Amino acid sequence: MRGAAPDSVLPPRQRCRLSALAAGDRGSALPSFVAVRRELGPAHRPHGAPPFLPPAPGDADDQDRRGPVLGSRSRRAPRPGDGTLSGRDRRVAADVIAPRAHLSFQTGAPVELDVDYVVVGSGAGGAAAAATLARSGRTVCLCERGPWRDPEHYPATVYGAMRDLWADWGTLFARGRSMIPILQASCVGGTTVINSAIVVRTPPTVLAEWAELGLGEVFSETAMGAEQDELERELGVTQMKGRQLMEHSEALLRALRSRDLEGHAIHRNARDCIGSGQCLQGCREGAKTSTNLCWVPEVATRGGTVLSCASVARVLIERGRAVGVSGRFVHPAPARGQRRGGSRFVVRARRGVLVAASATGSAPLLERSGLRLPALGRGWRGQPGAAMLGVYPHEVHMERGTTQGAASLAFSSERFKLESLALPLELLVARVGGAGVDYARALEQAPRMAMWVAAVRAEAQGTVRAGRLGPPVVRYAPTRRDTERLRQGLGRLARLHFDAGAEKVLPGIHGLPGELGPDELTALDSAPVDNRCYTWVLSHLFGGCVMGNDPTRSVVAEDLHVRGVRRLHVVDAACLPTTLGVNPQHTIMAVARIVAGRIANEEGTT
Ligand SMILES: Cc1cc2nc3c(=O)[nH]c(=O)nc-3n(C[C@H](O)[C@H](O)[C@H](O)COP(=O)(O)OP(=O)(O)OC[C@H]3O[C@@H](n4cnc5c(N)ncnc54)[C@H](O)[C@@H]3O)c2cc1C
Ligand code: SF4
Repeated sequence: MRGAAPDSVLPPRQRCRLSALAAGDRGSALPSFVAVRRELGPAHRPHGAPPFLPPAPGDADDQDRRGPVLGSRSRRAPRPGDGTLSGRDRRVAADVIAPRAHLSFQTGAPVELDVDYVVVGSGAGGAAAAATLARSGRTVCLCERGPWRDPEHYPATVYGAMRDLWADWGTLFARGRSMIPILQASCVGGTTVINSAIVVRTPPTVLAEWAELGLGEVFSETAMGAEQDELERELGVTQMKGRQLMEHSEALLRALRSRDLEGHAIHRNARDCIGSGQCLQGCREGAKTSTNLCWVPEVATRGGTVLSCASVARVLIERGRAVGVSGRFVHPAPARGQRRGGSRFVVRARRGVLVAASATGSAPLLERSGLRLPALGRGWRGQPGAAMLGVYPHEVHMERGTTQGAASLAFSSERFKLESLALPLELLVARVGGAGVDYARALEQAPRMAMWVAAVRAEAQGTVRAGRLGPPVVRYAPTRRDTERLRQGLGRLARLHFDAGAEKVLPGIHGLPGELGPDELTALDSAPVDNRCYTWVLSHLFGGCVMGNDPTRSVVAEDLHVRGVRRLHVVDAACLPTTLGVNPQHTIMAVARIVAGRIANEEGTT
């Protein structure tokens, strides 16, 4: 199939130029992509977004960078929070934060604060825990390494998102037999700002596994169910429908139905989603209830303090007890000649420290703080996935409709799940791969492509350690069985694409042809079982500080304290003792709220 001339969706002149551009640069994919992307022009940019290329000084995208990067929420008069914030209240709350409620990058004298609790990290776990503590009447300081950005200032391009929202420009990798990219955000709201807003309850089978680790009483089905009921109400979770889904997701649902397989429109915390397909860049419509739009402002309106651009360097531990954190403000985008490092800060916490710096951040932070537990940094897990692209005879425009609209849990017992996932063209080019004329031809088909992904509930375990140069070092490699499961998932997706009417699929597996037709699928079943041959991506991460009853295998004991340190807790993906087989934010939020609720109610903590 490779090399067959597709029917072009572009005018003939533009098509010729594309082929010529790509043919002139067979050596490297990136420069040819840059040229091709320019050539594709505004018609192929979602919602008329400006070009993805690095902004010239003074252009619109550059203004993003200079303007509100440090946040602008500290000017108005205070207004007390009034219970659960929702809808318009949430937006109002964001604008009425007291002057001292948000401190961002600054230089000069150290900042010192005294509070009841300090929480490190404002993502799914940290913000959920901080709001719970604030609701119980405690004073809370929420420290976040990244900047505070409002939806109207989210970057319009993937390049801007990498620069302004993604952690370390998206350059973190899991190192194993192959390098697997790890996607996370670093901004107020953490990865909830760039995630797809999928909300799935913790499977009972997972809670049963946790019960075997001594966690059954705290995280019982009843307790988790009640918490997740409440979360769904607060976050406005609804099932996607109609124009939110569009052809890209509808086609997957049709194909699943035709084979009598379970398939459903996804439930998301994005009730007013207009289907712009731009979740990875943050929702500029403000439709996604990421934590920077609900719980972080709530912490501030309830008398707490949010520190943004505030990188916590260590947890302060005195006589076996966590008493606060210290760190330094870090400018996320310093001007030329400006220093990145700002003032030091010290937050003293009378009642406790909660760490929620993510599965790549929490264990390294505890390591830097001097903890030496045998399980620290171990038990690092993931749900890595890869995509199968289908090319259809008609236009699909995967960028139209919600980023992820359809899913299937039909293969949970085989430890993989299937989902539709729209990728912006800027990232699609990396998945399509190739060089020269073939590459240009493949890219031309972008409007006719649908991308569906298989994510594996992997059994592999790795480690995360503090890196000497800053970013953490993650060592992790999917096992042979994980790779077999991915291959099986990709095979299922290819067949579903053909059921939905695709002409061909682009498997993206090293050792296989670039394109496969409906009669060539046996090649997929015998694809290499070598994890280096697949284009894995890791976005669902777990572990490093896992909970459990075995002191040699867990960092957090059943009483929810870090072993050997009183008043120190971990409340994010790092503490989850297993993978889930489903999207993790709902579980992380529920766990964080249950732990925070228990801490707040603990007696004798003063
Ligand atoms: C592209 C993508 C799509 C996803 N889609 C979904 C989805 O649809 N549904 C779902 O359930 N899950 C999804 N996920 C996963 C989900 O978003 C994460 O599992 C979840 O946000 C993790 O929560 P967390 O609190 O552990 O970490 P995060 O949300 O990553 O928050 C950690 C925060 O801590 C901060 N931090 C780190 N170190 C420090 C430090 N030293 N000092 C101060 N702050 C620090 C970071 O900057 C970050 O803001 C997605 C993930 C990605 C990458
Ligand atoms: S797809 Fe929906 S939730 Fe995602 S960015 Fe667009 S409008 Fe927001």
